[in-house]
Amino acid sequence: MPRTVTGIDPTVLREEFPALHQVVNGDPLVYLDNAATTQKPRAVLDALRHFYEHDNANVHRGIHELSRRATDAFEAARIRVASWVNAPNASEVVWTRGTTEGINLVAYAWGLSNLRKGDEIVVSVMEHHSNLIPWQLVCGHTGARLRHVDIDDQGRLRLDQLEDVLSDRTRIVSIGHVSNSIGTINPVREIVDLAKTVGALTVVDGAQGAPHLPVDVQALGCDFYAFSGHKMCGPTGIGALWGKRELLDSMEPYQGGGEMISVVRLEESTWAEVPHKFEAGTPNIAGAVGFAAAVDYLEDVGRDAIRRHEVELTRHAMDRLGELPWIRIFGPPEPEARSGVVAFEVEGAHPHDVATILDSEGIAIRAGHHCTQPLMRRLGVSATSRASFYIYNTEAEIDRMVRALHTVHGIFGTHA
Ligand code: PMP
Repeated sequence: MPRTVTGIDPTVLREEFPALHQVVNGDPLVYLDNAATTQKPRAVLDALRHFYEHDNANVHRGIHELSRRATDAFEAARIRVASWVNAPNASEVVWTRGTTEGINLVAYAWGLSNLRKGDEIVVSVMEHHSNLIPWQLVCGHTGARLRHVDIDDQGRLRLDQLEDVLSDRTRIVSIGHVSNSIGTINPVREIVDLAKTVGALTVVDGAQGAPHLPVDVQALGCDFYAFSGHKMCGPTGIGALWGKRELLDSMEPYQGGGEMISVVRLEESTWAEVPHKFEAGTPNIAGAVGFAAAVDYLEDVGRDAIRRHEVELTRHAMDRLGELPWIRIFGPPEPEARSGVVAFEVEGAHPHDVATILDSEGIAIRAGHHCTQPLMRRLGVSATSRASFYIYNTEAEIDRMVRALHTVHGIFGTHA
């Protein structure tokens, strides 16, 4: 794997990503929408192709050779993905469609049978809708109440408020590891320790944590950690939920169907062991295999190198954007306090216009509320522009974005 002294050499590494090598609207593509989804290296594309060309069969069912191979690959993938977050045992990792399904699984499978009127669930104002709506729905079913913790003016979680909100009514604290909108890295270990003082369970939305930071669920001390394959070079439609074994064992199934049962009678049934109890129906077998290939790939790049590279890109972007008085950057001022996400506002220009002009030069960023409407309200905006980086991005790409922003300012600046 190509490396510089400090980490990754993206100019070499990006050769392995076919989608990055295309001309978009007349210019070479600059892909800065990695918080939405990442591009896929050849190793992942090859793993998917190899699975479908050689091993494709249903899992845990057939007595035949292909079914055995598919099952072996599927279960080996579980062990590989479990290792990415240092899960103590791969049987504690449930395959899901992604982070959204992982959080819904906990909300319904744990929440419906354990929450009562008067109980409280704590989230923060910066949560992705995936870590908000499932709890709202479960509150609607159970009579539990949702509480939230604010951020300070630099986009950091107000731990003092968390302490105030926690009480013996708190049953769950569910917090994002990293904000997809402003990049803030939350102090999960401290949050977990605080939650434990009132006996609350902790759920971590790891959609933006697992791809960008070294994650060790045992060191974090949380009860559940949900993440998605597609945000870390893997395929879409596959994710993982890690949960503590005794909790998973105590929970009712999330969905019913094939694969998740032990004995079925017409009136009642018993369930398979964890994790299969939560995996009704034919799973995304090729997706799991591709996810494991992504983990192999990222391990090879190196977790610390990924982090260092992103901090450097973030620092570069914040320095360059910080020179422009007509740009306002949201979130913590220190690059080390965030993952590779820089959200900003261009004076006088709507974020959709910013993204459209950048797109006309082949530069992909995201504009909108980023599935965090409460956070947008808290920041006092309806939308932002967001550039988000991954291992294959370069400082030269950020410079191209900054040049294009000058064009935006040239068009809209005088109307500000
Ligand atoms: N949480 C965060 C912080 C996210 O960024 C995302 C994806 N944008 C999700 C949850 C949902 O992930 P998925 O769509 O893969 O389920």
